[in-house]
Amino acid sequence: MNPLEHLSWPFFEERHREFATTLESWAASEVRDVQGDDVDTLCRRLVRQLGDAGWLRPTVAGAAYGGAADVIDTRMLCLAREALARHAGLADFAFAMQGLGSGAISLAGTAEQKARWLPRVARGEAIAAFALSEPDAGSDVAALQCTARIDGGHAVLDGEKTWISNGGIADFYVVFARSGEADGSRGISAFVVEAGTPGFMIAERIDVIAPHPLARLRFTNCRVPLANRIGAGGEGFKIAMRTLDVFRTSVAAAALGFARRALEEGLHRATTRKMFGQTLADFQLTQAKLAQMATTIDSAALLTYRAAWQRDQGENVTRQAAMAKLAATEGAQQVIDAALQLFGGMGVVSGHPVERLYREIRSLRIYEGATEVQQLIIGRDLLKAAFR
Ligand SMILES: Cc1cc2nc3c(=O)[nH]c(=O)nc-3n(C[C@H](O)[C@H](O)[C@H](O)COP(=O)(O)OP(=O)(O)OC[C@H]3O[C@@H](n4cnc5c(N)ncnc54)[C@H](O)[C@@H]3O)c2cc1C
Repeated sequence: MNPLEHLSWPFFEERHREFATTLESWAASEVRDVQGDDVDTLCRRLVRQLGDAGWLRPTVAGAAYGGAADVIDTRMLCLAREALARHAGLADFAFAMQGLGSGAISLAGTAEQKARWLPRVARGEAIAAFALSEPDAGSDVAALQCTARIDGGHAVLDGEKTWISNGGIADFYVVFARSGEADGSRGISAFVVEAGTPGFMIAERIDVIAPHPLARLRFTNCRVPLANRIGAGGEGFKIAMRTLDVFRTSVAAAALGFARRALEEGLHRATTRKMFGQTLADFQLTQAKLAQMATTIDSAALLTYRAAWQRDQGENVTRQAAMAKLAATEGAQQVIDAALQLFGGMGVVSGHPVERLYREIRSLRIYEGATEVQQLIIGRDLLKAAFR
């Protein structure tokens, strides 16, 4: 199976084909199935490796700041995540977080903020994190309670953030806090908080089924210069949503990468496993399973690259990105489950590629808007369009 077959689709331009082809061979030789006991060390190394090779450039906007282009190219982000996820979940994680963590700066930062952080993010010299969720504000994120009180030339942060990827290893965190300009979502601002700022601590490291650096953060009387505020006071929620809008489609692409790897593994197993005097692939039940897996993957790929292409044309893709994330993450879960079934007992052995995929895919159906949240986005958009 050629993992680059879809590059001939009309969604792509020559630069995308070149990028994906070169990244594919780099990832196959440099990061395929990387693992290690210590995820912090491994993730730091992966960020550095990706940065040294130039692969992080699409995660930031602005050629002057080390970015691949002046505007983030969604198709490039998606192609990168798909390829990296196929080869190594943690390499995809390291790549994605550089983008999500610095996205607010790319989209709404001042020239000084961009110059300070983006080139280091693009080179893999500074690790970024995006701190929005709280213990009592996940799906309902506008209910966040972390506060930012303005005191002279500083903002004083108090409260907690949780489920923060790269928590514990990041060099800086983009933190969203209630600054009180208005009630609800209009009273939230975004701040860059550097690791080591007094009053900021990692309250807890969180272990999850597919291990990666994840933490609960605590801010106690944490003073941050107002120069670290991204955008105007009260604009934070809008900036967070704009950032998620850019990266949501790329979550679909990562799910696609996991699903493609599962199909590759499944095909290999089906064509080599001997049983009942034949191979597993000779049975029509197996062929039906493989056909369903491939169809699910192509449907997800079409939705993903449609959303990415439309976004790169400057169109609003709220509904299309939600459809892509919903279909690709739910579909990948089914494809991976089917692949695991083809492996029988081997599929549940710790560390086996399909067992790893089975754990890796699960949280993609939850973060950056759970499946139910995507359904609501799509439903609301359809109804709005119907009554326009
Ligand atoms: C591995 C991982 C990494 C993460 N990384 C980050 C990060 O870097 N930065 C960050 O800020 N956050 C991060 N998150 C947090 C993530 O965005 C939240 O977990 C997510 O938004 C869901 O919030 P919650 O966990 O509080 O679940 P809840 O909001 O309590 O939702 C629980 C469930 O309720 C259902 N649900 C939600 N809304 C509705 C509805 N309207 N109707 C019906 N059912 C509904 C969904 O099934 C959902 O899964 C991460 C999470 C995980 C698991």
